[in-house]
Amino acid sequence: MRTKMVAGNWKMNKTLQEGVALATELKETVKNPSCAVVIGTPFIHLATVSELLKGSPIKVAAENCADKDKGAFTGEVSAAMVKSTGAEYVILGHSERRAYYHEDYAILREKVRLALDNGLKPIFCIGEVKEEREAGKQNEIVKAQLEGSVFNLTAEEWNNITLAYEPVWAIGTGLTATPEQAQEMHAYIRSLVAEKYGKQAAEDTTILYGGSCNEKNAAELFANEDVDGGLIGGAALIGEKFRAIIAAR
Ligand code: PEP
Repeated sequence: MRTKMVAGNWKMNKTLQEGVALATELKETVKNPSCAVVIGTPFIHLATVSELLKGSPIKVAAENCADKDKGAFTGEVSAAMVKSTGAEYVILGHSERRAYYHEDYAILREKVRLALDNGLKPIFCIGEVKEEREAGKQNEIVKAQLEGSVFNLTAEEWNNITLAYEPVWAIGTGLTATPEQAQEMHAYIRSLVAEKYGKQAAEDTTILYGGSCNEKNAAELFANEDVDGGLIGGAALIGEKFRAIIAAR
Protein backbone atom coordinates (compact mmCIF):
# COMPACT_ATOMS: atom_id res chain seq x y z
CA MET A 1 0.00 0.00 0.00
CA ARG A 2 1.50 3.31 -1.02
CA THR A 3 1.49 6.32 1.29
CA LYS A 4 -1.28 8.84 0.78
CA MET A 5 -0.09 12.36 1.48
CA VAL A 6 -1.08 15.99 1.68
CA ALA A 7 1.90 18.33 1.61
CA GLY A 8 1.87 22.11 1.90
CA ASN A 9 4.28 24.46 0.17
CA TRP A 10 4.33 27.83 1.91
CA LYS A 11 6.72 29.31 -0.68
CA MET A 12 8.05 32.77 0.25
CA ASN A 13 5.19 33.52 2.59
CA LYS A 14 4.98 34.01 6.35
CA THR A 15 7.39 35.61 8.74
CA LEU A 16 8.86 33.31 11.38
CA GLN A 17 6.18 34.41 13.85
CA GLU A 18 3.37 33.82 11.35
CA GLY A 19 4.80 30.44 10.43
CA VAL A 20 5.06 29.40 14.08
CA ALA A 21 1.45 30.47 14.60
CA LEU A 22 0.23 28.34 11.67
CA ALA A 23 2.34 25.34 12.66
CA THR A 24 1.03 25.61 16.23
CA GLU A 25 -2.54 25.74 14.98
CA LEU A 26 -1.95 22.69 12.78
CA LYS A 27 -0.29 20.78 15.61
CA GLU A 28 -3.32 21.41 17.82
CA THR A 29 -5.88 20.48 15.20
CA VAL A 30 -4.31 17.74 13.04
CA LYS A 31 -3.90 14.87 15.49
CA ASN A 32 -4.96 11.70 13.69
CA PRO A 33 -4.84 12.38 9.96
CA SER A 34 -5.77 9.51 7.67
CA CYS A 35 -2.77 10.35 5.46
CA ALA A 36 0.79 11.58 5.83
CA VAL A 37 0.92 15.35 6.33
CA VAL A 38 3.95 17.46 5.45
CA ILE A 39 4.48 21.21 5.55
CA GLY A 40 7.10 22.80 3.34
CA THR A 41 8.41 25.97 4.94
CA PRO A 42 11.08 28.56 4.16
CA PHE A 43 14.55 27.68 5.45
CA ILE A 44 14.39 30.10 8.35
CA HIS A 45 11.36 28.30 9.84
CA LEU A 46 12.70 24.76 9.61
CA ALA A 47 14.45 24.33 12.96
CA THR A 48 11.77 26.07 15.01
CA VAL A 49 8.86 24.39 13.26
CA SER A 50 10.51 20.94 13.39
CA GLU A 51 11.05 21.34 17.12
CA LEU A 52 7.50 22.60 17.62
CA LEU A 53 6.04 19.63 15.72
CA LYS A 54 7.87 16.97 17.71
CA GLY A 55 5.31 14.42 18.81
CA SER A 56 2.91 15.51 16.05
CA PRO A 57 2.20 13.40 12.94
CA ILE A 58 3.02 16.45 10.81
CA LYS A 59 6.42 16.31 9.11
CA VAL A 60 8.50 19.18 7.79
CA ALA A 61 9.98 19.81 4.35
CA ALA A 62 12.42 22.36 3.01
CA GLU A 63 11.41 23.97 -0.28
CA ASN A 64 14.88 23.68 -1.80
CA CYS A 65 18.47 22.74 -1.04
CA ALA A 66 21.81 23.53 -2.67
CA ASP A 67 23.31 21.54 -5.52
CA LYS A 68 26.68 21.67 -3.74
CA ASP A 69 27.84 19.73 -0.74
CA LYS A 70 29.36 22.57 1.32
CA GLY A 71 31.74 25.51 1.20
CA ALA A 72 31.95 28.95 -0.37
CA PHE A 73 28.44 29.30 -1.80
CA THR A 74 27.17 32.44 -0.10
CA GLY A 75 23.48 32.35 0.71
CA GLU A 76 23.00 28.67 -0.11
CA VAL A 77 21.67 26.02 2.28
CA SER A 78 22.98 22.48 1.91
CA ALA A 79 21.03 19.24 2.25
CA ALA A 80 23.08 18.41 5.37
CA MET A 81 22.10 21.75 6.89
CA VAL A 82 18.42 21.10 6.10
CA LYS A 83 18.67 17.65 7.66
CA SER A 84 20.24 19.10 10.81
CA THR A 85 17.10 21.19 11.43
CA GLY A 86 14.96 18.08 11.88
CA ALA A 87 13.26 18.37 8.46
CA GLU A 88 12.61 15.00 6.79
CA TYR A 89 11.62 16.06 3.27
CA VAL A 90 12.75 18.50 0.61
CA ILE A 91 10.67 19.77 -2.30
CA LEU A 92 12.82 19.72 -5.45
CA GLY A 93 12.14 20.54 -9.07
CA HIS A 94 9.32 22.96 -8.34
CA SER A 95 8.40 24.83 -11.52
CA GLU A 96 9.17 28.16 -9.86
CA ARG A 97 12.73 26.98 -9.18
CA ARG A 98 13.02 25.66 -12.74
CA ALA A 99 11.67 28.86 -14.31
CA TYR A 100 13.05 31.66 -12.09
CA TYR A 101 16.30 30.11 -10.89
CA HIS A 102 17.16 28.14 -14.02
CA GLU A 103 17.35 24.78 -12.31
CA ASP A 104 17.91 22.37 -15.17
CA TYR A 105 17.91 18.58 -15.22
CA ALA A 106 21.58 18.33 -14.22
CA ILE A 107 21.28 20.73 -11.28
CA LEU A 108 18.20 18.91 -10.04
CA ARG A 109 19.96 15.56 -10.42
CA GLU A 110 22.67 16.89 -8.08
CA LYS A 111 20.14 18.22 -5.60
CA VAL A 112 18.27 14.91 -5.50
CA ARG A 113 21.56 13.05 -5.04
CA LEU A 114 22.67 15.31 -2.16
CA ALA A 115 19.23 15.16 -0.53
CA LEU A 116 19.25 11.35 -0.55
CA ASP A 117 22.87 11.13 0.56
CA ASN A 118 21.96 13.27 3.55
CA GLY A 119 18.88 11.29 4.53
CA LEU A 120 16.23 13.64 3.16
CA LYS A 121 13.23 12.42 1.17
CA PRO A 122 12.69 14.42 -2.02
CA ILE A 123 9.23 15.44 -3.14
CA PHE A 124 10.14 15.77 -6.80
CA CYS A 125 7.93 18.01 -8.94
CA ILE A 126 7.32 17.58 -12.65
CA GLY A 127 4.85 19.12 -15.05
CA GLU A 128 4.37 20.86 -18.35
CA VAL A 129 3.70 24.53 -19.17
CA LYS A 130 0.55 25.68 -20.96
CA GLU A 131 2.09 25.79 -24.45
CA GLU A 132 3.37 22.24 -24.03
CA ARG A 133 -0.07 20.98 -23.00
CA GLU A 134 -1.68 22.84 -25.89
CA ALA A 135 0.78 21.18 -28.25
CA GLY A 136 -0.03 17.77 -26.73
CA LYS A 137 3.54 17.40 -25.47
CA GLN A 138 2.80 16.88 -21.76
CA ASN A 139 3.79 13.21 -21.73
CA GLU A 140 7.13 13.75 -23.40
CA ILE A 141 7.91 16.65 -21.05
CA VAL A 142 7.30 14.76 -17.80
CA LYS A 143 9.16 11.75 -19.20
CA ALA A 144 12.18 13.93 -19.97
CA GLN A 145 12.02 15.52 -16.52
CA LEU A 146 12.05 12.10 -14.86
CA GLU A 147 14.79 10.74 -17.11
CA GLY A 148 16.83 13.92 -16.68
CA SER A 149 16.91 14.06 -12.90
CA VAL A 150 15.63 10.97 -11.06
CA PHE A 151 15.62 7.85 -13.26
CA ASN A 152 19.37 7.53 -12.59
CA LEU A 153 18.55 6.46 -9.01
CA THR A 154 18.89 2.89 -7.83
CA ALA A 155 15.75 0.93 -6.98
CA GLU A 156 16.59 1.27 -3.30
CA GLU A 157 16.98 5.03 -3.56
CA TRP A 158 13.71 5.24 -5.49
CA ASN A 159 11.84 4.08 -2.36
CA ASN A 160 12.51 7.51 -0.83
CA ILE A 161 11.05 9.49 -3.72
CA THR A 162 7.61 11.08 -3.73
CA LEU A 163 6.51 12.55 -7.07
CA ALA A 164 4.29 15.58 -7.53
CA TYR A 165 2.64 16.17 -10.90
CA GLU A 166 2.14 19.91 -11.09
CA PRO A 167 0.94 21.23 -14.45
CA VAL A 168 2.54 24.66 -14.46
CA TRP A 169 -0.55 26.25 -16.01
CA ALA A 170 -2.49 25.25 -12.90
CA ILE A 171 -0.10 26.58 -10.25
CA GLY A 172 -1.44 29.65 -8.49
CA THR A 173 -3.73 30.39 -11.44
CA GLY A 174 -7.03 29.06 -10.14
CA LEU A 175 -7.07 26.71 -13.15
CA THR A 176 -7.08 23.12 -11.95
CA ALA A 177 -6.47 20.05 -14.06
CA THR A 178 -9.73 18.17 -14.41
CA PRO A 179 -9.87 14.93 -12.41
CA GLU A 180 -9.64 13.11 -15.77
CA GLN A 181 -6.53 15.03 -16.84
CA ALA A 182 -4.90 14.39 -13.47
CA GLN A 183 -5.74 10.68 -13.49
CA GLU A 184 -4.56 10.25 -17.08
CA MET A 185 -1.19 11.87 -16.34
CA HIS A 186 -0.70 10.10 -13.01
CA ALA A 187 -1.38 6.74 -14.64
CA TYR A 188 1.12 7.61 -17.37
CA ILE A 189 3.75 8.60 -14.79
CA ARG A 190 3.13 5.37 -12.91
CA SER A 191 3.60 3.42 -16.14
CA LEU A 192 6.99 5.12 -16.65
CA VAL A 193 8.02 4.19 -13.11
CA ALA A 194 6.90 0.61 -13.79
CA GLU A 195 9.03 0.45 -16.95
CA LYS A 196 12.04 1.72 -15.06
CA TYR A 197 11.73 0.17 -11.58
CA GLY A 198 9.12 -2.55 -12.02
CA LYS A 199 5.43 -2.91 -11.32
CA GLN A 200 5.69 -3.20 -7.55
CA ALA A 201 7.83 -0.09 -7.21
CA ALA A 202 5.34 1.79 -9.38
CA GLU A 203 2.45 0.58 -7.24
CA ASP A 204 4.30 1.80 -4.14
CA THR A 205 5.20 5.24 -5.52
CA THR A 206 3.25 8.15 -4.10
CA ILE A 207 2.22 10.62 -6.82
CA LEU A 208 0.72 13.89 -5.62
CA TYR A 209 -1.26 16.36 -7.71
CA GLY A 210 -0.47 20.07 -7.39
CA GLY A 211 -1.98 23.11 -9.05
CA SER A 212 -4.81 25.14 -7.53
CA CYS A 213 -5.90 22.16 -5.45
CA ASN A 214 -8.12 23.50 -2.69
CA GLU A 215 -10.73 22.53 -0.12
CA LYS A 216 -13.44 22.53 -2.82
CA ASN A 217 -11.85 20.34 -5.49
CA ALA A 218 -9.55 18.10 -3.42
CA ALA A 219 -12.01 15.24 -2.86
CA GLU A 220 -12.79 14.98 -6.57
CA LEU A 221 -9.10 14.92 -7.49
CA PHE A 222 -8.15 12.46 -4.74
CA ALA A 223 -10.95 10.08 -5.75
CA ASN A 224 -8.84 9.00 -8.73
CA GLU A 225 -6.99 5.74 -8.40
CA ASP A 226 -3.56 7.13 -9.24
CA VAL A 227 -3.83 10.46 -7.40
CA ASP A 228 -2.34 9.77 -3.99
CA GLY A 229 -2.77 13.21 -2.51
CA GLY A 230 -1.81 16.80 -3.11
CA LEU A 231 0.98 19.34 -3.03
CA ILE A 232 -0.80 22.48 -1.94
CA GLY A 233 0.38 26.07 -2.34
CA GLY A 234 -2.09 28.87 -1.62
CA ALA A 235 -4.59 26.79 0.33
CA ALA A 236 -1.83 25.52 2.65
CA LEU A 237 -1.40 29.02 4.06
CA ILE A 238 -4.78 28.92 5.80
CA GLY A 239 -5.18 26.33 8.54
CA GLU A 240 -8.87 25.71 7.95
CA LYS A 241 -8.41 25.12 4.21
CA PHE A 242 -5.38 22.90 4.65
CA ARG A 243 -7.25 20.83 7.25
CA ALA A 244 -10.19 20.41 4.88
CA ILE A 245 -7.85 19.13 2.16
CA ILE A 246 -6.28 16.67 4.62
CA ALA A 247 -9.78 15.51 5.55
CA ALA A 248 -10.57 14.99 1.86
CA ARG A 249 -7.67 12.53 1.61
C1 PEP B 1 2.54 24.74 -5.75
O1 PEP B 1 3.16 25.77 -5.91
O2 PEP B 1 3.16 23.69 -5.50
C2 PEP B 1 1.10 24.79 -5.86
C3 PEP B 1 0.47 23.69 -6.10
O3 PEP B 1 0.53 26.03 -5.72
P1 PEP B 1 -1.06 26.36 -5.74
O4 PEP B 1 -1.74 25.31 -4.91
O5 PEP B 1 -1.16 27.71 -5.12
O6 PEP B 1 -1.48 26.31 -7.16
